[in-house]
Amino acid sequence: MFHWDNGLKLTRPDLAIDFRRRQPRGFLSHAHADHMARHQYALCTPATAALYHLRLGPRPTRELPYREPVRWGGVRLTTYPAGHCLGSAMLLAEDGGESLLYSGDFKLRTSRTVEGAELPRAEVFILECTYGRPEYRLPDRQLVVEEFLELVERTIRQGAVPVVCAYALGKSQEATRLLTDAGFAVVQHAEAFRISAVYERFGVALGSYRRYGGDVEPGEVLVVPPGRAAAVPGPAVRIALTGWAIDKDARQRLRVDHALPLSDHADYDELFEAVERVGAKKVFCTHGPESFVDRLRERGVEAFPLEPASWRQH
Ligand SMILES: [Zn+2]
Repeated sequence: MFHWDNGLKLTRPDLAIDFRRRQPRGFLSHAHADHMARHQYALCTPATAALYHLRLGPRPTRELPYREPVRWGGVRLTTYPAGHCLGSAMLLAEDGGESLLYSGDFKLRTSRTVEGAELPRAEVFILECTYGRPEYRLPDRQLVVEEFLELVERTIRQGAVPVVCAYALGKSQEATRLLTDAGFAVVQHAEAFRISAVYERFGVALGSYRRYGGDVEPGEVLVVPPGRAAAVPGPAVRIALTGWAIDKDARQRLRVDHALPLSDHADYDELFEAVERVGAKKVFCTHGPESFVDRLRERGVEAFPLEPASWRQH
């Protein structure tokens, strides 16, 4: 049903899945840069299409709204929410009696700006397992949120500017909504701001925030994508929101004062939960440590790494 050709392809429709290089036909699970290219023809959800066009310019696109099956290239394709960022989708492909679910980046925990993940059952499950090591068990999300808001409050009280380092797509909007819900005034870097407009267009309200234009007023919180410079008056306290905050050297690596483990990816336990819910006969692991394949096998799951060296037709 699928094969490897410098990346994952659905065989019958010759559909490239999350390729970073231009393809005749490509499926985009979501609009993060490492899952997109300027394809001749792209398939994705309506929200991902809007973000794809915003980031890479208008392009021929077939929109696949969640839970609406379409016949395409001889197979039946259905998208389901992946809970990762606006528009993020899992892809279910059905061909005769066979079924395959591709997870893309996903998480099972709920957040305020993304529809919760839905996992249909499938015989083959291709699983993104970024946090496939036992040390990546994330703490309760609500506790992390409380710690984040307390830290912002304390920073403002001490006369410094909280600078929240968060991906432009997904984390910036979640951080903004958490902050505005708690009554903070938010200033967003331009890159996050134009993506936030798409969130609003698709019905995700983010509260009261404005575009960064070079200044931050006392009491405001600045949200900036990692690596983007933004000058602030006086002292700043930089706060990163990422699952990698679990790593001991995270603060040094990310060059921040605080790193909090608020993630948009499934943690170690959620990966097992996803496998159980999909109930697949075979699981192929990608974007994660190869040792996770062994952990699945120890639990009786027929698992394989999804990579050319070990690939054979399935
Ligand atoms: Zn992603």
